[in-house]
Amino acid sequence: MIEKNDLKPCPFCNSRHLDVDISRMGFAWIVCKTCHANGPEGVGIGGAIANWNNRVSVQKSMSREKEDE
Ligand SMILES: [Zn+2]
Repeated sequence: MIEKNDLKPCPFCNSRHLDVDISRMGFAWIVCKTCHANGPEGVGIGGAIANWNNRVSVQKSMSREKEDE
């Protein structure tokens, strides 16, 4: 199981109903169980979580720029 506290909410629907999928090659990615968004692949669960959280912060900064327009 992943540590939910380490994961930021889904950038699309703000859900914390998240899970992790792992491929046989050792790549993992976060999946939102609410809107079925897939996070970027990372190496292992730790990589998936890091990429997910990084993506969330990117999404937030982009939406903040739109609000400024
Ligand atoms: Zn979602």
